[in-house]
Amino acid sequence: MSTQLQSLNEAQALIYSRNNISRTYEDFDPSDIAGLFRSDSDIIVTRTDGSQQAFPTAPIKESFKEFTSRLPNFFEYLGPNFRGPSIWRNNCYILFKGWHYQAQGSALSMPAKAQSRWADKLAASSIYSEDGMVALLEEFQLGYLISPDGKTAPPAARGIPNSEAEVVEQQQPKPFCSCGSFQRQVNLIDDIRQEIPGYEPTCKHMTWFTKYREFLAKRNELLASYPSGNAEKATAWFYAPPTYEQKHGRLAIIFTNHGQNAPIEKWRWYKSKEQFNETHLWGLLDSMIKNGYVPFPHTGLLQTANAFKSK
Ligand SMILES: [Zn+2]
Repeated sequence: MSTQLQSLNEAQALIYSRNNISRTYEDFDPSDIAGLFRSDSDIIVTRTDGSQQAFPTAPIKESFKEFTSRLPNFFEYLGPNFRGPSIWRNNCYILFKGWHYQAQGSALSMPAKAQSRWADKLAASSIYSEDGMVALLEEFQLGYLISPDGKTAPPAARGIPNSEAEVVEQQQPKPFCSCGSFQRQVNLIDDIRQEIPGYEPTCKHMTWFTKYREFLAKRNELLASYPSGNAEKATAWFYAPPTYEQKHGRLAIIFTNHGQNAPIEKWRWYKSKEQFNETHLWGLLDSMIKNGYVPFPHTGLLQTANAFKSK
Protein backbone atom coordinates (compact mmCIF):
# COMPACT_ATOMS: atom_id res chain seq x y z
CA MET A 1 0.00 0.00 0.00
CA SER A 2 1.50 3.30 -1.05
CA THR A 3 -0.90 5.60 0.80
CA GLN A 4 0.70 7.61 3.53
CA LEU A 5 -0.59 6.53 6.95
CA GLN A 6 -1.05 9.25 9.54
CA SER A 7 -1.69 8.78 13.21
CA LEU A 8 -4.92 10.27 14.48
CA ASN A 9 -5.08 13.69 16.11
CA GLU A 10 -7.39 14.19 19.10
CA ALA A 11 -10.42 15.15 17.01
CA GLN A 12 -9.95 12.20 14.69
CA ALA A 13 -9.52 9.89 17.68
CA LEU A 14 -12.85 11.19 18.99
CA ILE A 15 -14.67 10.58 15.70
CA TYR A 16 -12.93 7.34 14.71
CA SER A 17 -12.96 5.78 18.17
CA ARG A 18 -13.07 2.01 18.48
CA ASN A 19 -16.65 2.32 19.72
CA ASN A 20 -17.73 4.33 16.70
CA ILE A 21 -16.02 1.90 14.32
CA SER A 22 -17.83 -0.95 16.14
CA ARG A 23 -21.14 0.88 15.80
CA THR A 24 -20.55 1.24 12.07
CA TYR A 25 -19.02 -2.08 11.02
CA GLU A 26 -20.42 -5.27 12.47
CA ASP A 27 -17.37 -7.27 11.38
CA PHE A 28 -14.95 -4.97 13.21
CA ASP A 29 -13.03 -6.76 15.95
CA PRO A 30 -12.08 -4.18 18.61
CA SER A 31 -9.59 -6.46 20.34
CA ASP A 32 -5.94 -6.91 19.52
CA ILE A 33 -5.37 -3.52 17.88
CA ALA A 34 -1.83 -2.16 17.56
CA GLY A 35 -2.83 1.17 16.07
CA LEU A 36 -5.40 3.24 14.17
CA PHE A 37 -4.29 5.39 11.25
CA ARG A 38 -5.91 7.74 8.79
CA SER A 39 -5.40 7.39 5.04
CA ASP A 40 -7.19 9.51 2.44
CA SER A 41 -10.63 8.04 2.87
CA ASP A 42 -10.12 5.12 5.25
CA ILE A 43 -9.25 4.29 8.80
CA ILE A 44 -6.51 1.68 8.74
CA VAL A 45 -6.56 -0.73 11.66
CA THR A 46 -3.26 -2.47 12.26
CA ARG A 47 -3.20 -5.64 14.35
CA THR A 48 -0.52 -6.89 16.67
CA ASP A 49 0.22 -9.69 14.16
CA GLY A 50 1.08 -7.06 11.56
CA SER A 51 -2.09 -7.42 9.46
CA GLN A 52 -4.14 -4.42 8.34
CA GLN A 53 -7.77 -3.70 7.63
CA ALA A 54 -9.28 -0.61 5.98
CA PHE A 55 -12.64 0.91 6.95
CA PRO A 56 -14.06 3.83 4.93
CA THR A 57 -14.41 6.95 7.12
CA ALA A 58 -17.69 8.38 5.75
CA PRO A 59 -20.05 5.94 7.54
CA ILE A 60 -18.03 6.27 10.78
CA LYS A 61 -18.58 10.03 10.71
CA GLU A 62 -22.32 9.37 10.50
CA SER A 63 -22.11 7.00 13.50
CA PHE A 64 -20.23 9.65 15.45
CA LYS A 65 -22.90 12.26 14.70
CA GLU A 66 -25.75 9.89 15.47
CA PHE A 67 -24.26 8.66 18.71
CA THR A 68 -23.26 12.12 19.93
CA SER A 69 -26.78 13.45 19.38
CA ARG A 70 -28.70 10.33 20.52
CA LEU A 71 -31.98 10.79 22.41
CA PRO A 72 -31.93 9.48 26.01
CA ASN A 73 -35.18 8.11 27.42
CA PHE A 74 -37.75 10.45 29.00
CA PHE A 75 -36.65 9.77 32.58
CA GLU A 76 -32.91 10.19 32.12
CA TYR A 77 -33.01 13.93 32.77
CA LEU A 78 -36.05 14.43 34.96
CA GLY A 79 -35.53 15.81 38.44
CA PRO A 80 -37.47 14.82 41.59
CA ASN A 81 -41.28 14.57 41.19
CA PHE A 82 -40.97 14.42 37.39
CA ARG A 83 -39.77 18.01 37.21
CA GLY A 84 -38.13 19.28 34.06
CA PRO A 85 -35.14 21.63 33.77
CA SER A 86 -35.14 24.89 35.78
CA ILE A 87 -34.43 28.13 34.01
CA TRP A 88 -31.46 29.95 35.55
CA ARG A 89 -29.63 33.10 34.50
CA ASN A 90 -28.28 34.19 31.14
CA ASN A 91 -30.57 31.87 29.16
CA CYS A 92 -29.08 28.82 30.86
CA TYR A 93 -31.06 25.98 32.41
CA ILE A 94 -30.26 23.46 35.13
CA LEU A 95 -30.79 19.99 33.69
CA PHE A 96 -31.23 17.34 36.38
CA LYS A 97 -29.86 13.83 36.08
CA GLY A 98 -32.66 11.27 36.44
CA TRP A 99 -31.36 9.74 39.67
CA HIS A 100 -34.87 9.12 40.92
CA TYR A 101 -35.77 6.79 38.07
CA GLN A 102 -32.64 4.71 37.48
CA ALA A 103 -33.49 1.76 39.68
CA GLN A 104 -35.67 0.75 42.62
CA GLY A 105 -34.23 2.55 45.61
CA SER A 106 -32.03 4.93 43.60
CA ALA A 107 -34.17 7.78 44.93
CA LEU A 108 -32.36 7.18 48.22
CA SER A 109 -28.89 7.66 46.70
CA MET A 110 -26.84 10.67 47.78
CA PRO A 111 -27.23 12.65 44.53
CA ALA A 112 -30.99 11.95 44.46
CA LYS A 113 -31.38 13.16 48.02
CA ALA A 114 -29.32 16.25 47.26
CA GLN A 115 -31.61 16.97 44.29
CA SER A 116 -34.72 16.60 46.45
CA ARG A 117 -33.29 19.00 48.98
CA TRP A 118 -32.09 21.63 46.52
CA ALA A 119 -33.94 21.31 43.23
CA ASP A 120 -36.53 23.97 44.05
CA LYS A 121 -34.01 26.36 45.51
CA LEU A 122 -31.07 26.00 43.12
CA ALA A 123 -32.26 28.36 40.42
CA ALA A 124 -33.00 31.10 42.95
CA SER A 125 -29.88 30.45 45.01
CA SER A 126 -27.19 33.03 45.65
CA ILE A 127 -24.85 31.40 43.14
CA TYR A 128 -24.49 33.92 40.36
CA SER A 129 -21.39 32.75 38.55
CA GLU A 130 -21.61 30.14 35.86
CA ASP A 131 -18.44 28.44 37.08
CA GLY A 132 -19.87 28.31 40.60
CA MET A 133 -23.09 26.69 39.43
CA VAL A 134 -21.30 24.17 37.20
CA ALA A 135 -18.95 23.26 40.06
CA LEU A 136 -21.90 22.69 42.41
CA LEU A 137 -23.80 20.59 39.86
CA GLU A 138 -20.69 18.50 39.27
CA GLU A 139 -19.65 18.11 42.89
CA PHE A 140 -23.00 16.68 43.94
CA GLN A 141 -23.68 15.02 40.57
CA LEU A 142 -26.93 16.94 40.30
CA GLY A 143 -26.84 17.52 36.56
CA TYR A 144 -25.63 19.98 33.92
CA LEU A 145 -25.88 23.63 33.00
CA ILE A 146 -27.23 23.90 29.49
CA SER A 147 -28.15 26.69 27.09
CA PRO A 148 -29.70 25.19 23.95
CA ASP A 149 -30.34 28.61 22.37
CA GLY A 150 -27.04 30.13 23.43
CA LYS A 151 -26.26 32.38 26.34
CA THR A 152 -27.31 35.99 26.38
CA ALA A 153 -24.35 37.65 28.06
CA PRO A 154 -24.29 41.39 27.37
CA PRO A 155 -21.72 42.23 24.65
CA ALA A 156 -19.65 44.23 27.13
CA ALA A 157 -19.01 41.11 29.13
CA ARG A 158 -17.44 39.40 26.15
CA GLY A 159 -14.60 41.82 25.44
CA ILE A 160 -13.97 44.00 22.42
CA PRO A 161 -14.03 42.14 19.11
CA ASN A 162 -10.84 42.15 17.05
CA SER A 163 -12.38 41.82 13.62
CA GLU A 164 -15.54 42.06 11.60
CA ALA A 165 -15.82 38.27 11.63
CA GLU A 166 -15.57 38.24 15.40
CA VAL A 167 -18.40 40.79 15.65
CA VAL A 168 -20.67 38.47 13.64
CA GLU A 169 -19.44 35.51 15.68
CA GLN A 170 -20.28 37.31 18.93
CA GLN A 171 -23.77 38.23 17.80
CA GLN A 172 -24.67 34.61 17.22
CA PRO A 173 -25.48 33.00 20.55
CA LYS A 174 -24.02 29.50 20.56
CA PRO A 175 -25.56 26.49 22.29
CA PHE A 176 -23.74 25.45 25.43
CA CYS A 177 -23.65 22.41 27.72
CA SER A 178 -21.34 21.94 30.67
CA CYS A 179 -20.91 18.19 30.07
CA GLY A 180 -17.54 16.69 29.15
CA SER A 181 -18.61 15.55 25.69
CA PHE A 182 -19.81 18.99 24.60
CA GLN A 183 -16.81 20.80 26.05
CA ARG A 184 -14.43 18.43 24.35
CA GLN A 185 -16.08 19.08 20.98
CA VAL A 186 -15.90 22.84 21.55
CA ASN A 187 -12.17 22.59 22.30
CA LEU A 188 -11.50 20.50 19.21
CA ILE A 189 -13.97 22.20 16.88
CA ASP A 190 -11.48 23.37 14.23
CA ASP A 191 -9.99 19.89 13.88
CA ILE A 192 -13.42 18.24 13.92
CA ARG A 193 -14.49 20.52 11.04
CA GLN A 194 -11.49 19.34 9.05
CA GLU A 195 -13.20 15.94 9.09
CA ILE A 196 -16.85 17.05 9.10
CA PRO A 197 -17.22 20.50 7.49
CA GLY A 198 -19.77 22.75 9.20
CA TYR A 199 -20.05 20.51 12.26
CA GLU A 200 -21.58 22.13 15.37
CA PRO A 201 -20.99 20.70 18.85
CA THR A 202 -23.93 18.86 20.37
CA CYS A 203 -24.64 16.21 23.02
CA LYS A 204 -27.37 13.91 24.26
CA HIS A 205 -28.46 16.55 26.80
CA MET A 206 -29.10 18.98 23.96
CA THR A 207 -31.19 16.37 22.12
CA TRP A 208 -33.16 15.46 25.25
CA PHE A 209 -33.82 19.12 26.08
CA THR A 210 -35.03 19.89 22.57
CA LYS A 211 -37.38 16.89 22.59
CA TYR A 212 -38.69 17.73 26.07
CA ARG A 213 -39.37 21.33 25.10
CA GLU A 214 -41.23 20.26 21.97
CA PHE A 215 -43.29 17.87 24.06
CA LEU A 216 -44.22 20.57 26.58
CA ALA A 217 -45.16 23.01 23.82
CA LYS A 218 -47.42 20.47 22.07
CA ARG A 219 -49.00 19.40 25.36
CA ASN A 220 -49.69 23.01 26.37
CA GLU A 221 -51.18 23.75 22.99
CA LEU A 222 -53.52 20.77 23.26
CA LEU A 223 -54.57 21.63 26.79
CA ALA A 224 -55.20 25.24 25.75
CA SER A 225 -57.54 24.01 23.00
CA TYR A 226 -60.02 22.91 25.70
CA PRO A 227 -62.04 26.05 26.55
CA SER A 228 -62.54 24.93 30.14
CA GLY A 229 -58.78 24.42 30.65
CA ASN A 230 -59.53 20.80 31.56
CA ALA A 231 -58.76 18.01 29.13
CA GLU A 232 -61.72 15.96 27.96
CA LYS A 233 -59.44 13.16 26.84
CA ALA A 234 -56.56 12.41 29.19
CA THR A 235 -53.97 9.76 29.99
CA ALA A 236 -52.06 9.11 33.19
CA TRP A 237 -48.80 7.16 33.24
CA PHE A 238 -47.13 5.34 36.08
CA TYR A 239 -43.49 4.25 36.10
CA ALA A 240 -41.71 1.75 38.34
CA PRO A 241 -37.93 1.83 37.81
CA PRO A 242 -36.17 -1.52 37.27
CA THR A 243 -34.78 -3.54 40.16
CA TYR A 244 -31.02 -3.96 40.01
CA GLU A 245 -31.45 -7.30 38.20
CA GLN A 246 -33.87 -5.95 35.59
CA LYS A 247 -32.87 -4.24 32.41
CA HIS A 248 -36.03 -2.17 32.10
CA GLY A 249 -38.60 -0.63 34.38
CA ARG A 250 -42.36 -0.93 34.00
CA LEU A 251 -44.54 1.72 32.42
CA ALA A 252 -48.33 1.52 32.76
CA ILE A 253 -50.87 3.85 31.18
CA ILE A 254 -54.55 4.53 31.77
CA PHE A 255 -56.83 6.79 29.78
CA THR A 256 -60.26 8.36 29.88
CA ASN A 257 -62.64 10.11 27.51
CA HIS A 258 -64.64 11.55 30.42
CA GLY A 259 -62.44 14.45 31.46
CA GLN A 260 -59.18 14.61 33.37
CA ASN A 261 -61.05 14.85 36.67
CA ALA A 262 -63.27 11.82 36.00
CA PRO A 263 -63.42 9.32 38.90
CA ILE A 264 -61.07 6.37 38.56
CA GLU A 265 -63.89 3.99 37.43
CA LYS A 266 -64.11 6.03 34.23
CA TRP A 267 -60.50 5.26 33.29
CA ARG A 268 -59.32 2.24 31.25
CA TRP A 269 -55.98 0.50 30.85
CA TYR A 270 -54.16 1.29 27.65
CA LYS A 271 -53.08 -2.00 25.95
CA SER A 272 -52.89 -3.81 29.26
CA LYS A 273 -51.40 -6.92 27.65
CA GLU A 274 -48.39 -5.08 26.30
CA GLN A 275 -45.24 -4.56 28.32
CA PHE A 276 -44.15 -0.95 28.16
CA ASN A 277 -40.94 0.44 29.60
CA GLU A 278 -39.03 3.73 29.73
CA THR A 279 -37.82 3.41 26.13
CA HIS A 280 -41.41 3.57 24.87
CA LEU A 281 -42.52 6.75 26.58
CA TRP A 282 -41.39 9.41 24.06
CA GLY A 283 -43.21 7.59 21.27
CA LEU A 284 -46.30 7.04 23.41
CA LEU A 285 -46.42 10.69 24.50
CA ASP A 286 -46.18 11.79 20.88
CA SER A 287 -49.06 9.54 19.81
CA MET A 288 -51.22 10.47 22.83
CA ILE A 289 -50.95 14.14 21.90
CA LYS A 290 -51.50 13.41 18.23
CA ASN A 291 -54.73 11.63 19.17
CA GLY A 292 -55.90 14.49 21.36
CA TYR A 293 -55.10 12.97 24.78
CA VAL A 294 -53.35 15.20 27.31
CA PRO A 295 -50.80 13.12 29.25
CA PHE A 296 -50.29 13.49 33.00
CA PRO A 297 -47.85 11.74 35.32
CA HIS A 298 -50.03 9.69 37.69
CA THR A 299 -49.03 12.05 40.50
CA GLY A 300 -50.42 14.99 38.53
CA LEU A 301 -54.09 14.13 39.16
CA LEU A 302 -55.53 13.40 42.58
CA GLN A 303 -57.64 10.36 41.66
CA THR A 304 -54.92 8.66 39.58
CA ALA A 305 -52.28 9.34 42.24
CA ASN A 306 -54.47 7.55 44.77
CA ALA A 307 -55.29 4.68 42.41
CA PHE A 308 -51.66 3.80 41.73
CA LYS A 309 -50.75 4.23 45.37
CA SER A 310 -53.12 1.43 46.41
CA LYS A 311 -51.59 -1.07 43.95
ZN1 LIG B 1 -24.26 17.82 27.39
